[in-house]
Amino acid sequence: MQTVDLGDGIRCIETGLYRHGLAACYLVREGDALAFVDTGTTHTVPHLLRLVAELGLTPSHVRYVIPTHVHLDHAGGSGELMRHCPEAQLIVHPKGAPHLIDPARLTVGATEVYGPEAFARDFGTLVPVPAERVVVAEDGHRIDLAGRTLTFVDTPGHANHHGCVWDERSRGFFTGDTFGISYRELDTAAGPFLFAPTTPVAFDPDAWLQSLDKLMAYEPRAMYLTHYCRVEAPERLVDDLRHSIRALAELALAVDAGPADDRADRLRVAVGRQLVADAVAHGCTLDEVRIRSLLEVDIELNAQGLEVWLKRRARRAES
Ligand SMILES: [Zn+2]
Repeated sequence: MQTVDLGDGIRCIETGLYRHGLAACYLVREGDALAFVDTGTTHTVPHLLRLVAELGLTPSHVRYVIPTHVHLDHAGGSGELMRHCPEAQLIVHPKGAPHLIDPARLTVGATEVYGPEAFARDFGTLVPVPAERVVVAEDGHRIDLAGRTLTFVDTPGHANHHGCVWDERSRGFFTGDTFGISYRELDTAAGPFLFAPTTPVAFDPDAWLQSLDKLMAYEPRAMYLTHYCRVEAPERLVDDLRHSIRALAELALAVDAGPADDRADRLRVAVGRQLVADAVAHGCTLDEVRIRSLLEVDIELNAQGLEVWLKRRARRAES
């Protein structure tokens, strides 16, 4: 499994989900103290432990496991990793903590999204984290990694259980999904191509735009994305992401204004068109079939997430 040394004691680790270059997680090292930010899935954990051994350290050197949010490409391996790291604390958003202590609802929710076979194959079995090893991180919670301060910043929008981790040393944020998705295959002369993952079940465009303002107020030099790796000069990228959040929300409302039948299918078609058009407008010269295959999982998840968002809006309007 590949890792990339990004300097400042930060390694970007390929998690192995679906294809190389889709999902990463990070190891932060300060002296002999280690913290993982995101974990990949249960299947990723043996690779994480091997990396620790390659550094000449042991699982006891892992002080913190910090999932940015409890979607399974980010937090699926948390329980299994904690089981192997006796000294580690799990640092997690207040709304995410109950789901890692008792992952039953996550399993049900993810099985609904992915289907039972794909869930078992891609994510394995979720291991519960003992409650006494969980530290609930409110907004601004500071984490001391051998003198290096990491700060947990509440960032709802992609999910209401999402936080980003500010690293003063590198002046970078570990952003999970809050700073969007940017696959390296879609880089162009104009730079990285960013888009918004509107994954089920708590997409909230207004909250997300506010969270981006909150991140940018730190004047970050870099963002460490789960999907995928580091992007620099975020001030030059953030408007593309704002555009993507607004465009996907507007697209969903437009589909909703149309005929009521086949709404899910029409959303999927519209999301696919939007993301491909955005990539092409960014200067991506790959053929459309290739762009679609790179975005296949995201088109499906974005369409599902927008469907859930429309239903939630409708319920709110009724009540
Ligand atoms: Zn997510």
